[in-house]
Amino acid sequence: MYRSYSVSRFLWLLAADAVIFALCAVFFFVGRSFFTSADSEPEPPVRLPVIMYHSVYGDTPSEYVVTPAQLESDLRWLSENGYKSVTAEQLIAYTQGRGGLPLKPVMITLDDGYYNNLTYLLPLLEKYDMTAVVSVVGSYTDNDAACDPHIPCYSYLTWDDIALLAGSGRVELGNHTYDMHSLYSGRTGCKRKEGESEGEYRQALGEDISRLQCEFSANLGLAPRVFTYPFGAVSRESLPVIRENGFLMTLTCRERANLITRDPDCLYGIGRFNRSGLTTTETFMRRITQE
Ligand SMILES: [Zn+2]
Repeated sequence: MYRSYSVSRFLWLLAADAVIFALCAVFFFVGRSFFTSADSEPEPPVRLPVIMYHSVYGDTPSEYVVTPAQLESDLRWLSENGYKSVTAEQLIAYTQGRGGLPLKPVMITLDDGYYNNLTYLLPLLEKYDMTAVVSVVGSYTDNDAACDPHIPCYSYLTWDDIALLAGSGRVELGNHTYDMHSLYSGRTGCKRKEGESEGEYRQALGEDISRLQCEFSANLGLAPRVFTYPFGAVSRESLPVIRENGFLMTLTCRERANLITRDPDCLYGIGRFNRSGLTTTETFMRRITQE
């Protein structure tokens, strides 16, 4: 009696152990795949086309001028085709492991700081619920904008205008150098000059871009984190200087889409497509989105 009780109890306990073991194994493998799929599998890179505009005015488009109607047509196309504009801050946060990106992101940029960015761009950004980065040349704002204020075809933004753009919450600002936006100063944009030592170059670039950062700080109380190379002219030696001045993103004129990952370095050397006014919205957008 004692012996048979002991055997049956032993068998019962063995069966119970087997069931518990099987359940643990199931929970372990199911749980592991559930909790680790998001962490361990790398997220695929996000394709980001970036559009480069300059001036927006009139009814005679050119390589670097689009009409307000063309700009509206572009924003309408993007909106109707499911594209959402992303800000530099969103991209920076994403690369630092914070937040996500929309399914079909696009970035809108405008170079040189034309006054018409305030008159024509801002209302359209509001109408289509979009954002843009406007990259300003410091010397244009300090010297030229004050002389010819508020002529849409050629005036530049004053500091008051820039404050309105920044205050809209739809425009981020980029540093497009203080006074290196030239092809006739002995260097191409902010590229290293022939015969210039690396030390001389780093000092010249550092002084120029920090001067504009100081003006942003004094006039608006902010420091842009986007640096935009004039004419897309890039020198290898520029990047350490740009990083030292607190920039987390650089914009070039290389006509290619970007692959955004969780690596902050992927924001240096962002490619952009020049939106010439000499093509249609449909042709341009199909090219940059590959749709
Ligand atoms: Zn420019």
